Amino acid sequence: MIDVILKKGKEKAALQRHPWIFSGAIDKVKGSPLNGEVVIVKAADNEFLAYGYYNGQSRVAVRLLEWDENKTIDKAWYQLKLQNAIAARQHVLQDKQTNTCRLVFSEADFLPGLIVDQYADFLSLQILSAGMENIKQDIIAILKEELQPKGIFDKSDSNARTHENLEIAQGLLWGEMPPEFIEVKENGILYHINIAEGQKSGFYCDQRDNRRILAEYASGKNVLDCFSYSGGFSLNCLRKGASHITSIDSSALAMETLKHNIALNGYNEEQQTSIQSDVNKQLRIFKEEGKKFDIIILDPPKYAPSRSALDRAARAYKDLNRLAMHLLESGGLLATFSCSGAVDIETFKQIIAWAALDAGKEVQIIKQFSQPEDHPVRISFSEGEYLKGLLLRVL
Ligand code: SAH
Repeated sequence: MIDVILKKGKEKAALQRHPWIFSGAIDKVKGSPLNGEVVIVKAADNEFLAYGYYNGQSRVAVRLLEWDENKTIDKAWYQLKLQNAIAARQHVLQDKQTNTCRLVFSEADFLPGLIVDQYADFLSLQILSAGMENIKQDIIAILKEELQPKGIFDKSDSNARTHENLEIAQGLLWGEMPPEFIEVKENGILYHINIAEGQKSGFYCDQRDNRRILAEYASGKNVLDCFSYSGGFSLNCLRKGASHITSIDSSALAMETLKHNIALNGYNEEQQTSIQSDVNKQLRIFKEEGKKFDIIILDPPKYAPSRSALDRAARAYKDLNRLAMHLLESGGLLATFSCSGAVDIETFKQIIAWAALDAGKEVQIIKQFSQPEDHPVRISFSEGEYLKGLLLRVL
């Protein structure tokens, strides 16, 4: 195995179990490892630090896997890591009200660059590191053995792959091709999911807990669900007795799937209105029309893909939240989210404070939202914490 020696003083993060070695921290590479090859990372004084995947083309030059020198990174090692990750999700799946969740969450599960989502009997795989790409066949074999899925689908279509010099990949990896719409259950609600065409890996299962928590406030309320996608928040609120839901999303497929999902759960068209439009534009129209809502949900896409986009993203979050605040009845609730890792919760609160000032509203935080247990945050890797939200009372 090839040694990668760090510059003097650059071993601290690895010692603290942060799983990334940036290319600038490397002093020398004693050989020519291939992209994705497992290397030994050592401090300047030759002390062993960890094993990791090397990638000479990536800013993150090594993704650390294992800090115990006596371990061997072989199929049994991967099997144990996968078994642990899968076992940890049984808590999400045990009450049988949910059969879709994230089984493997990359660095958080000690498997950098591997994401596995369960959709009822099917699995969707996303591979984002050259190291994982190299052992994809082993991963598939282990998943087959551990879970006996009907089929495993490759949804490695993230731009993140380009950082690792990997091409976009999508298609059946093993077993049966999933149907166009897989029926899954979350919080007891049924959804049709289109893995191949859908966003993310098909469904935003990271909002499971937040949908349930928010819905507790929805009884008898007139709710506006912005960036609704396939209706996660809309359906949870309907189930808890919302008087009416308006769902907005710009994607035609999202709207079509939402329509299926409304019918699938036995709700009718009087209870829910879908608007395929740009949210900012639609909120302005509602303001002109003098429309008001009791609850508004804002779950926009990632506005800040990196730290450098933070200023622009902050302005976009502020404008969006200010607009929504104008549309709430006095004392109404705003559930506002950010899935940008670059925007931490304190920054997000600051942005909301600016929005409230601009809107001339008093705002109380009544709850804080985060990501669910199947998207754990490793204490040494705060980059894994991306989803945050606030439930606000707007006066
Ligand atoms: N709330 C959803 C997930 C939202 S993901 C759920 O619970 O499942 C973000 C959604 O925003 C996507 O469906 C995307 O189509 C939509 N979107 C992105 N930009 C938009 C815009 N400007 N106006 C309306 N929808 C937008």
